[in-house]
Amino acid sequence: MNKLYLFAFCLIFQFSCSAPPLSGEGQRITYEKVVLVSEAKPKNVILLIGDGMGLTHVTAGSIVKKTPLALENFRHIGLVKTYSTKLITDSAAGATAMATGKKTYNGAISMDIHQEKLKTILEYAEDNNWLTGVVTTSTVTHATPACFYGHQPTRSNVNRALAAEFLTKDIEVLMGGGWNYFKDGPDGRDLIEEAVAKGYFVTDTIVEGDQYLPERMICLISPMLPPRLAERGDFLPLATKKSIDILSHNNSSFFLVGESAQIDWGGHENKSDYIVEEMLDFDRSIQIALDFAKKDGNTLVVVTADHETGGYSINQGDLKDGSIETGFTTDYHTASMVPVFAYGPGAESFAGIMDNTEIFYKLKYLMNL
Ligand code: MG
Ligand code: ZN
Repeated sequence: MNKLYLFAFCLIFQFSCSAPPLSGEGQRITYEKVVLVSEAKPKNVILLIGDGMGLTHVTAGSIVKKTPLALENFRHIGLVKTYSTKLITDSAAGATAMATGKKTYNGAISMDIHQEKLKTILEYAEDNNWLTGVVTTSTVTHATPACFYGHQPTRSNVNRALAAEFLTKDIEVLMGGGWNYFKDGPDGRDLIEEAVAKGYFVTDTIVEGDQYLPERMICLISPMLPPRLAERGDFLPLATKKSIDILSHNNSSFFLVGESAQIDWGGHENKSDYIVEEMLDFDRSIQIALDFAKKDGNTLVVVTADHETGGYSINQGDLKDGSIETGFTTDYHTASMVPVFAYGPGAESFAGIMDNTEIFYKLKYLMNL
């Protein structure tokens, strides 16, 4: 029989009496209720975020693929409320909630409503000698990845500041776009050179089958935003594989955050083909994480989203030929709950309906940080 204890009911109340009144729709944002149902202690954790990935995005991927998604192997599934201090979150506040356990204002990079820095799950992991990595199909300084290692009062015009902030940490792996934010800049620094001096293997490509496993690696595949799939190829699955290989090779615990960023961009552009293309690329990356977790036996994989994008719907279609006719209600984000899928030790903790902030508390507890 599976050891499943209703282990802990943890209520954390945080009253910030000095807080200014929050704009928005009066949602509860001053406390978090965290339900923890597993006392498992996974050795490794892989958190994969589909930016803008609502249930319809997953459904569209499964219809077009015509064979089961990697996600269909997961048996512990929940729903996540994504609001920030506004009903409709942006990716910065959404990632801050998951990374730090605090609801904040849209645009905040792991800063609270008073613009104080919030310690992230990745920073807790680093402090406890876990190896860590961040992978994305956006720039590595974009809101979602940045919220795991950076702290900025706004997400705008902080690419260089975030690149410099990254180098103050000891994160082993960083992969995505944004070479230009690291190369020599107006501040007189060359952050590529500084990274090399810090022991990073720095490259702009990731090659399938390459066996080289540096201790630390930065891979920046594009000057700024990475291109669509046709041009960037299997970057995300390869980067996921390479990151896991690097982080797992000396048998330390590791925490990897991966982001499929452009599901959101397809939603903003109201392009169903773009969404599906990115969704299936994400699914191949999820399969790689899942394959590792199955083999390893002590790795928790959590897949979720920061919010839904597009008010995406499927109105007609055909399961046989994998065709869909779709609609959109907006070119921005919506308030729809998003799915969370978990596999591995501690996965039971992610069943049910939860706030995005609870992702942080559940991970922190399971990771014993
Ligand atoms: Mg993002
Ligand atoms: Zn978006």
